[in-house]
Amino acid sequence: MSRFRSSRFGGIEVYVPGEQPRDKKYIKLNTNESPYPPSPAVLSAAGGAAWNLNLYCDPTARRLRAATAEVFGVEPECVLPVNGSDEILDFAFMAFCDSSTAVAYPETSYGFYPVLAGLHGIEKREIPLKKDFSVDCRDYLGLGCTIVIANPNAPTGLALGLEDIEKILRSNPDNVVVVDEAYVDFGAESAIPLTKHYGNLLVTRTFSKSHSLAGARLGFGVACPELIADLTAIKDCTNPYNVNAMTQAAGVAAFEDNGIYMSNCRAVAETRDKTASELRALGFELTDSKANFLFLRHPAVSGGELYARLREKGILVRHFSKPSIEDYNRVTVGSPDEMEAFISAVKEVLHEKG
Ligand SMILES: *Cc1c(COP(=O)(O)O)cnc(C)c1O
Repeated sequence: MSRFRSSRFGGIEVYVPGEQPRDKKYIKLNTNESPYPPSPAVLSAAGGAAWNLNLYCDPTARRLRAATAEVFGVEPECVLPVNGSDEILDFAFMAFCDSSTAVAYPETSYGFYPVLAGLHGIEKREIPLKKDFSVDCRDYLGLGCTIVIANPNAPTGLALGLEDIEKILRSNPDNVVVVDEAYVDFGAESAIPLTKHYGNLLVTRTFSKSHSLAGARLGFGVACPELIADLTAIKDCTNPYNVNAMTQAAGVAAFEDNGIYMSNCRAVAETRDKTASELRALGFELTDSKANFLFLRHPAVSGGELYARLREKGILVRHFSKPSIEDYNRVTVGSPDEMEAFISAVKEVLHEKG
């Protein structure tokens, strides 16, 4: 740290992304990317947009907002495209929290929430999960602060039903509830239709997991026009051209091909369920994941050791050192071939343990 850093940011916790190693070719099951490439129309749309890179992109992302609105049956003024959904979480923390409005979220969840709270000096209310890793909606009733819930949650993969989301919305009418739906396309129910009925609901989405565009950095929020106006004000004060021209074009093309991506998501869900039953047969304990990853532990090998042994074998998974989940690993669901390689490597590790 230099002596020039503002004291406001002196002791901030920094987000550490999953490894993106370049030293050798790994089977990458550590950051929940799609195993399937972008569709040809997306590649050509992004390439076409590159011809105009001398010009600024559309700061209102008009075409992309219209395409998004059409897919979800909402009005374009209910949509804000962003530079990865991490960006809209940042905007939401700025727009809807302050020195008197804390933020509550599940204690075991996406690691960016505490980081953003720290960055903006917001008080954190971390709410423990139940013993089975589930979120109990009763813990979120009448909290009187901003609430963020990933649904399905990460890294557990467990999802809440919409009745529970509605209870939380109704019992916190004077606060914004953010539902982070990064993984919803793999098997949970979206709260986007509820944005028409609840003025305090913001749903955030990403193209990174379900739409094969992690490297393009594209996400969006859906909410009532007033909340979107608040978030747009923050966007215009920090980065008015937040989604670059190639990514805007890629997003429009991806939604025109939405059927392909939804069928990829169903394929991932099938691979997930098949892999889960193979792992159970090998003695693993798993949560009932509705996401594109599995959350697993084995009684005979620690989370840290399984991570390290798989890494030696060229397979990267995600291990978290947080004590409550240190026995576990989070494994992205890859292609059927990748998961076969993963299962064989796991069998070797278990065999070598005796
Ligand atoms: C991956 C992820 C995001 C962020 O995705 P972007 O790549 O920034 O769009 C947000 N929330 C959760 C829970 C995630 O796992």
